[in-house]
Amino acid sequence: MDKEYVGFAALPNQLHRKSVKKGFDFTLMVAGESGLGKSTLINSLFLTNLYEDRQLPAASARLTQTLTIERRGVEIEEGGIKVKLTLVDTPGFGDSVDCSDCWLPVVHFIEEQFEQYLRDESGLNRKNIQDSRVHCCLYFISPFGRGLRPLDVAFLRAVHEKVNIIPVIGKADALMPKEAQALKQKIRDQLKEEEINIYQFPDCDSDEDEDFKRQDAEMKESIPFAVVGSCEVVRDGETRPVRGRRYSWGTVEVENPHHCDFLNLRRMLVQTHLQDLKEVTHDLLYEGYRARCLQSLTRPGPRASRRAPRRSRCPCFLWPRLRS
Ligand code: GDP
Repeated sequence: MDKEYVGFAALPNQLHRKSVKKGFDFTLMVAGESGLGKSTLINSLFLTNLYEDRQLPAASARLTQTLTIERRGVEIEEGGIKVKLTLVDTPGFGDSVDCSDCWLPVVHFIEEQFEQYLRDESGLNRKNIQDSRVHCCLYFISPFGRGLRPLDVAFLRAVHEKVNIIPVIGKADALMPKEAQALKQKIRDQLKEEEINIYQFPDCDSDEDEDFKRQDAEMKESIPFAVVGSCEVVRDGETRPVRGRRYSWGTVEVENPHHCDFLNLRRMLVQTHLQDLKEVTHDLLYEGYRARCLQSLTRPGPRASRRAPRRSRCPCFLWPRLRS
């Protein structure tokens, strides 16, 4: 008699159908100095114009400008798969003459989303929680400096335990390949010295095919990604139209892996690691926040128990629950 089957093999299809129907939520933050090409890169990554309504302040206004947080949402559908992308932008970052503590609003914002999630999770309607937690932060580093500046280090230190950081070097067409490699190495060394944890790519499964393993290794080696963005599609002579930046000496193609790491970044962010970024946010970063909250409430001693975790603010709605 032929082997009989219960039918578990179809389980992945069920899960797949369910996820497709629900769609995917993803919240991406972009941070870094103004003018490093953040909005251009986002438009290039998601082939949309998320910044139509953006107004740039005059230089005099920027002297005293404080950092603000702006949220923009867009729904992208491709091949029947829906992704609800929320983009969190941080205009004004590093613009002011006095930048001390200018990153605090970002830290507050990230924690507020954790707090909201914790509140929702502890509420009655746990099934339909709107997840507004920041799943990833693309941090832009200048191609013109000599690595991370003090402001970069201060910002990254402040957020590295709260969000998945992916460092990128903006406007990488300003660098020759040799210079790009040297800058990347310098940044990697600085991150290590400063003990800043960036997003750790998971190891590739041993049963993946050789092509996938090669691409995965290539992607890991490119960090920090040196990227070029452009909102223009250019056509050079007979060649097919490409997204790029045309100069008098030639064209830099955004999607050409010999010109920059844009493709590696997009592949990683959209095709291969979106779900892992969400899982790390939930299992590691949010759990860390939650544990700190609960610890601060249950620690013995009347004063200590009232002290909030790390910086701040443990949601007060937890108090009655823990007291009873
Ligand atoms: P943001 O302030 O960081 O959002 O920067 P924008 O995306 O607004 O870009 C600022 C300026 O830099 C604009 O004039 C862009 O056309 C230009 N730009 C954007 N991306 C690149 C890039 O990859 N290379 C170069 N050379 N210029 C860029």
